[in-house]
Amino acid sequence: CSFGHFGFDEVLLAAIRKSEYTKPTPIQAQAIPVALSGRDIIGIAKTGSGKTAAFLWPMLIHIMDQKELEPGEGPIGLILAPTRELSQQIYQEAKKFGKIYNINVVCAYGGGSMWEQTKACQEGAEIIVATPGRLIDLIKKKSTNLERVTYLVFDEADRMFDMGFEPQVRSIANHVRPTRQTLLFSATFRKRIEKLARDILGDPVRIVQ
Ligand code: AMP
Repeated sequence: CSFGHFGFDEVLLAAIRKSEYTKPTPIQAQAIPVALSGRDIIGIAKTGSGKTAAFLWPMLIHIMDQKELEPGEGPIGLILAPTRELSQQIYQEAKKFGKIYNINVVCAYGGGSMWEQTKACQEGAEIIVATPGRLIDLIKKKSTNLERVTYLVFDEADRMFDMGFEPQVRSIANHVRPTRQTLLFSATFRKRIEKLARDILGDPVRIVQ
C-alpha cells in the first residue's frame, strides 16, 4: 500500500512527502479507505501506530466538503483526547496538515487559559482538539458549540474512561447530531469500550492494529 492509493489530492500528498513518511502504517492502510467512505470505525491501536494521521487526513477532506455544504461557525471536526499532552500532540499534527487547506485548529485542555481558548474558538476553527471536561466548560460558557460537528473522534477512549471521563464522553456524543461520522480509538477493547461502541457508533468497521 502507498499513499497514492488513497485518492488524496496533490497538496496533501506533497505535505505527506515533506513529512518524510515513506509508506502508510498498517492502521493507516486499513482505516483511511474506511474513513473516506464515511463509515464509523472502532480502532484498536496504540500511540506510535500512526493513528492520528489515520483519522486526521480523512477529517480534512470531510471538512473541505462539508464547509461548502454548510457555511457557518463552530467546528466541523471534533477530536476528544484524555490528556493535555495527547491533545497537544494531535493539535500539532492537525495544524501541520490543516494549514495546507487553510483549516484552523484550536486546542482546548484543562489547566490552560479559558480566556485564550475562548478567544481562539471565537476567531473561528474548523477543528477543535479537546479534553472532555474543558470542552464541556467551553460549551456551557457559549464559547463554542457542537451544532456543525459531523466528524467526531474519540482518541484513547480507554484512558478517558480510566480518568473518569465516561459521563463527559457520553454527554458529548449525545450532543453531536446523530447523522455524523464517528471514529473511536482505544488501546484495549474492554467491556466498557465495547458498550460505548455499541451506544455511540453506527454499524462500525472494526480495525485492529
Ligand atoms: P501516532 O501514533 O499518531 O501518535 O503517530 C506516531 C508518530 O509516527 C508521529 O510522530 C507521526 O508523525 C509519525 N507517523 C505517522 N504516520 C507515519 C507514517 N506513515 N510513516 C512514518 N511515520 C509516521
